[in-house]
Amino acid sequence: MFKTLDDLDFAGKTALVRADLNVPMLNGVVTDATRIARLAPTVKDLRAKGAKVVLLSHFGRPKGKRVEEMTLAPAARAVEDVLGVPVTFANDCIGADAVQAIAGSGDAVVVLENLRYHAGEEANDEGFAAALAALGDIYVNDAFSAAHRAHASTHRIAGLMPAVAGRNMQAELEALSAALGEPERPVAAIVGGAKVSTKLAVLENLVGRVELLIIGGGMANTFLYAGGVSVGKSLCEPDLAETARQVMAKAAESGCEIALPGDAVVAREFKAGAPFEVVPIDAIPDDAMMLDVGPETTRSLCEKLQSCRTLIWNGPMGAFEIPPFDDGTVGLAEAVADLTDAGSMRSVAGGGDTVAAMSAAGVSERITYISTAGGAFLEWMEGRALPGVEALAEAAK
Ligand code: ADP
Ligand code: MG
Repeated sequence: MFKTLDDLDFAGKTALVRADLNVPMLNGVVTDATRIARLAPTVKDLRAKGAKVVLLSHFGRPKGKRVEEMTLAPAARAVEDVLGVPVTFANDCIGADAVQAIAGSGDAVVVLENLRYHAGEEANDEGFAAALAALGDIYVNDAFSAAHRAHASTHRIAGLMPAVAGRNMQAELEALSAALGEPERPVAAIVGGAKVSTKLAVLENLVGRVELLIIGGGMANTFLYAGGVSVGKSLCEPDLAETARQVMAKAAESGCEIALPGDAVVAREFKAGAPFEVVPIDAIPDDAMMLDVGPETTRSLCEKLQSCRTLIWNGPMGAFEIPPFDDGTVGLAEAVADLTDAGSMRSVAGGGDTVAAMSAAGVSERITYISTAGGAFLEWMEGRALPGVEALAEAAK
């Protein structure tokens, strides 16, 4: 499949590590260092194996030009703090600045400036990839979250030098392959969140691969509407009703059960303290919107999950940012965590808001694997080949 840090000799070698330092930042300070913390195993292993570590990353969208607000310098300082290693920052990711920074860095980890300051990065340009490759001996891709992009530092470079997966990439690929590659069955998926339109490809892929598809969040409304339920003022995409019917037909053909909410928590406004009520799904008032699945739905879904061996979860069941509309998401999250603790289920969750919801529910540590990859995680759920992963597989042949 792909090689890992265990497969090559790193002693005295310079490892070019594609990291994801595209972290949340406010006024030049990193506000969430989760992604940096996840680099620790790769950086520590490489240093223990005697390698010089050089970190490559993009940040924001400077579109091929130097944009000072998008410098990786603050991220470099965060690497130093979070990983507890000395760090040298190079003003450019290729050329003399990079070469000199690496040569003079002694025991320090080197962080190179934003790859996207050069147009060659997003263009997957061979010349730019070669300029990167010239800086080291072995390429290590540890950025699963950037693997859905065919860019010079995620794709082209892997064809120019020995290429392996870092620990974070390896853990992600192993967890994902255990969930959808050769999963223990039955497999359930929970797909929630705001809109069907953003997750159509996910739904289409999953109905052919899982035994139970739980649809929640705003997207459940479109499915309910497609089945003739009146959803009042709920978030709904009537244009996608026909598509929703096709998904349901494909599910029926492939023996996938689709579970939709049977009751709902509705309110007239989406704000803290707004009056709310629980109603059966066929009694949503015309002037109200469904903001969460109801308690009966949560109870019945928790029961269905009891017999599932594998779960893939993307998208909250309700508008979880404001209580009490987080009840459905939290209730399911606790049930999933219990089943995972009990060893009867392997659970994988991913997506920006989903990660936040798991953390708000206090179960992050009890889910088998939480992917922080966002776009790459969704493309993987869509069943698409990820160029960064393909390139590592190609390099391992
Ligand atoms: P992720 O980031 O995990 O992929 P999404 O971005 O697709 O998830 O969905 C999260 C958003 O969906 C949240 O902002 C949440 O408030 C919203 N949402 C969930 N349920 C509803 C609902 N019933 N009505 C309106 N918005 C909803
Ligand atoms: Mg989101």
